[in-house]
Formats: sequence, C-alpha cells, structure tokens
Amino acid sequence: MDFDIIVVGGGLSGLISAAAAAEAGRRVCVVSCGTGDLLNFSGCIDLIAYHPGGSTRLGPTPAELMERLAAEIPQHPYTLVGKSGIERAIGFFKSLLPEGEYSGDIDRLIQLPTAIGTIKPTGLVPRSMAAGALDQGGEMLVVGFQGLRDFSAPYMAPNLAASLAEAQLSAVVRGETVAVDALSRHGGATVGALARRLEDEALLGIIAEKVRPLVGRASRVGFPTILGFMKDGPTRQCLEERLGARVFEIPGLPPSVPGQRLANHIQNALNRRGVCLMLGDRALGAQMEGQKCRSIRVARHGQITEMNARGFILATGGIRNGGLQAFRSGIREPLFGLPVRQPSGRGVWFRSSLFDPEGHPLDRAGVTANVDLHPVDEEGRILLENVRVCGRILAWQDPFKEKSGSGVAIATGYKAGTLSTME
Ligand SMILES: Cc1cc2nc3c(=O)[nH]c(=O)nc-3n(C[C@H](O)[C@H](O)[C@H](O)COP(=O)(O)OP(=O)(O)OC[C@H]3O[C@@H](n4cnc5c(N)ncnc54)[C@H](O)[C@@H]3O)c2cc1C
Repeated sequence: MDFDIIVVGGGLSGLISAAAAAEAGRRVCVVSCGTGDLLNFSGCIDLIAYHPGGSTRLGPTPAELMERLAAEIPQHPYTLVGKSGIERAIGFFKSLLPEGEYSGDIDRLIQLPTAIGTIKPTGLVPRSMAAGALDQGGEMLVVGFQGLRDFSAPYMAPNLAASLAEAQLSAVVRGETVAVDALSRHGGATVGALARRLEDEALLGIIAEKVRPLVGRASRVGFPTILGFMKDGPTRQCLEERLGARVFEIPGLPPSVPGQRLANHIQNALNRRGVCLMLGDRALGAQMEGQKCRSIRVARHGQITEMNARGFILATGGIRNGGLQAFRSGIREPLFGLPVRQPSGRGVWFRSSLFDPEGHPLDRAGVTANVDLHPVDEEGRILLENVRVCGRILAWQDPFKEKSGSGVAIATGYKAGTLSTME
C-alpha cells in the first residue's frame, strides 16, 4: 500500500494533520488503533488558560499567554507554530465543520459551567454550549433527570453558585430534577444513552412539557450533553421554541457526546477529501533508510502489512494512548525509538499534591521537535527527515496545567499536515 503521507494516530492532532495534507491534494492514510481522547474530552477546545509556571492567575487571554510562551519557552509546541500559525490552524479546523459549529478565538477566554459545578475556562466552544457562557449574567436553570446516573442538578447548582461567587461572576443558578417515566422504567440511564433517545421527538416533547413550568425567570436552560448523539441542532431548537429560553449543554464526564459529534464531523470531512481511514490497526515498527522512514509495519486483519509513503506524521498521543510508554526505567517512544524528554527519575514524576499549581513533571514529558516539527535530539539535530510530530506526544507542553490540550493538537496537527506536503 503506497501513499504520499501516512499519519499514525487518529486522535484530534492526527485527523487534523490528515485533513491539512489532503487539502493540498496528497494521498493520505490514517492508521490508528484507537480513537484517542476525542471521546473523553469535554468537546471544548482549550487553547490556553494558564501560564505553565506556578501562577494560578487566569489568562488574561490565550493570545497574551502564547506571546509569553514565545518569549520564555522556545520549544513549546505553540512557540513552534507561532501565533499567526495557530490562528490559521483554528480557521482550518472551523472550516472542516458545519458553518458556525464552533465559536471563539485566541483573543478571549470563554468560561463555561461544568457538570460538577466548577468553571471551565476554554477557547473554542461548540454551538450547543455557547449559551452557557458565564459572562452573560442573568438567571440560569439547570435541569437533571431522575435516574440519570452521571449528572445531578442538585449537586451541580449549589457548587456552581459557590464557584460563581468566588469568581465574582453575576449569573444566578437554579437546579431542578424532573422525572420522566421512560427513563426511570429502565432502571435509569447515562447521559450518552439519553442523548441517543432524545433524537426521538415524542420523548423530547415529554421532556419539554415537564421543564416548561420550571423555567420561570430563567433566560437560559442548561442540560447535560443529551441534545442528540449525532447532531444537537434540531433537538436544541425544538427545546428552545417550547421552553421560550435559550438552551445549552453542560460539559460533563466521559464518554463524551460532544466529542463523538466532533469526531463524526471531522471524519466526514476526511471522507470528502478521500483520506483512507484505517481505524483499529496498529503500527508496530518502522523500516528506515538512513534518516528517512521508508515504510511502517501495520497489524491489520491478523496479518502484518507493509505500508510505504514519502512522509509520515507521528500523532500517537501521550502515555494514555500508547504514543509514549512508561517503564520502571523511564518513558519510551515505541514506534521510532525517539528520545523522550522526561524527568530524571520515577521519584520526581509527580508532585505530592494532585492540584499542585506547578503541575506534574511527567505531564511535560515527550518528544522535542524543531520549528518544522521534525523530531530532534538535545542538540537540536534532526533525527528523522521525513517524519513530523504533532499533538500530545510533543514535550514542553502541560495540557492539564495550561488547559491547552486540543488547541495544541489542532495547531501542531495543521502545521505538520501542511509541511508534510513538501516531502
Ligand atoms: C479525560 C481527558 C479530558 C480532556 N479534556 C479536554 C478538554 O476538555 N479540552 C481540551 O482542549 N483538551 C482536553 N483533553 C486533552 C486533549 O483531549 C488531548 O490533549 C488531545 O486530544 C490529544 O490529541 P492527540 O491526537 O495528540 O492524541 P490522542 O488523542 O491520544 O490520540 C492518539 C492516537 O494514536 C493512536 N495510537 C497510539 N499508538 C499507535 C500505534 N502504534 N499505531 C496506531 N495508532 C496508535 C491512539 O490509539 C490514539 O487514537 C483531555 C484529555 C483527557 C485525557
């Protein structure tokens, strides 16, 4: 099997890189043994909300934080892409999706309520969550359902009220739980299961009837992420008409319904561009010729298949999804055996407090790249001439401390895909 570009890893960074390479007319294949964190993440694209140092001060904006990173951390993935490159990547990401599906940019942090009542600062938000932005003020009704196992309005609403007071935001929040026979009869449900069932108009009508008397003075009504599994638009519009208020989804626990919707949109965009998706297949190793990768060996249908390409993109993620592997002796990159920047020993992987404002050293481990996203050694020498690296596997970022995970995936994925067309 011959392609111009093979992307290894089908998480957000790999899919974006594949779309960017295919946009330039290249024959592209994505080989991925899993779906990555797309099905775990909230659906909100975090650009960056905190400086990676010990400060707990929010923002002020992603653009300003990116400028600080550029001055202070030359190897940070955002510095490698640059502010204008990040903006182009965001524009490209939005262009892959239905018009208006995501809003936001690097000049503003958007604060949303979460299912546990905390405030999530983020960068790009799906249309289904936009009306939940907390800077809008006014009264907000949060609706839960009896028997729903992974969302509770009586738990969330007081927590959110406390978080709002602490953040000096003026929105007022009220929580209500409604009983729907169709749910309780089956011994309860999860948010994901309810999202599938809400594509049924009859159940939607029943829910609207139950919620309408509770709306009162609320100008917006928040639900868990149940507004349809494949697309949220029709369900949300129908509820807004019947409730006479804006309706929004509240980001919650995995598995992520908004993440599944985003994955569907991007995979549709890849199908339109003729990208070959080999999902469920694992890359086992690489054949090298000097400093160039000639081919990779892929486990496919119980056999080993050799796949050739002119260029390769390594988008295999971090420790969670197998892009990096953790051993007693240290962290390794299994596919190409690239050097991994990492803490000096296991004893310093983590700080003693889970929420230490400095973050955890292990979270910054990964492969170092140059401005062309080629993997490099400690002296900055290129290790693989036709391989680019993108997403979570890159070192120097701390997605959990910075709140930058999907933003880095999009920015570096777009750059890797665009540059790979030069191979
Ligand atoms: C629980 C959780 C919640 C998060 N929430 C948010 C959020 O709300 N907002 C946000 O912006 N970010 C969030 N993040 C971070 C963000 O989701 C990730 O940083 C981002 O998705 C990383 O994308 P990626 O494509 O680089 O890697 P991944 O998503 O890890 O994808 C890597 C892919 O490579 C595949 N792979 C690995 N090895 C091989 C191999 N040898 N052969 C073939 N395939 C291989 C894996 O199966 C996987 O599909 C969250 C992360 C987690 C874990």
